[in-house]
Amino acid sequence: MSLNEPYDRDNIFAKIIRGEMACVKLYETDDVLAFMDVFPQSKGHCLVVHKNTEATNLFDMTTAGLAEIIGAVQKVAAAVKGGMKPDGVRIAQFNGAPAGQTVYHLHFHIIPVYDGEPLGQHGAGGPTAAEALEPIAAAIRAAL
Ligand code: 5GP
Repeated sequence: MSLNEPYDRDNIFAKIIRGEMACVKLYETDDVLAFMDVFPQSKGHCLVVHKNTEATNLFDMTTAGLAEIIGAVQKVAAAVKGGMKPDGVRIAQFNGAPAGQTVYHLHFHIIPVYDGEPLGQHGAGGPTAAEALEPIAAAIRAAL
């Protein structure tokens, strides 16, 4: 998908926000939602979205909305740092398919990095079951 395609209201994250698809939730306000990535690149990989937007990517988002989402990214990343004790934390955000975007609702990745453990490849690997993500999510929630 190019950078200028219209928003698809049936994308996976729109369905998760509407409650039509399940997710392992970490943090939610009226404006933002953080949940576990089901194809994690590392233990604790999670995502943050704005709930009240039809922004496909960064360029479609209001500055005020970006401030809300990045505030949530900082809060959840701090909980990932506290709960998972990684050696580093990568924050990532992709715009357009050539840049690696695969879900077309603006989102930020929080990816803990552990010394000696290479990250999984973005967009590759199998899904992790909710039951396996839940204890990881519990450790992150406890550090919120
Ligand atoms: P993007 O490639 O657009 O930057 O990131 C999309 C992310 O969403 C990927 O890391 C992918 O693993 C994750 N993802 C894809 N489908 C689902 C899903 O159904 N549920 C959840 N929680 N994450 C998903």
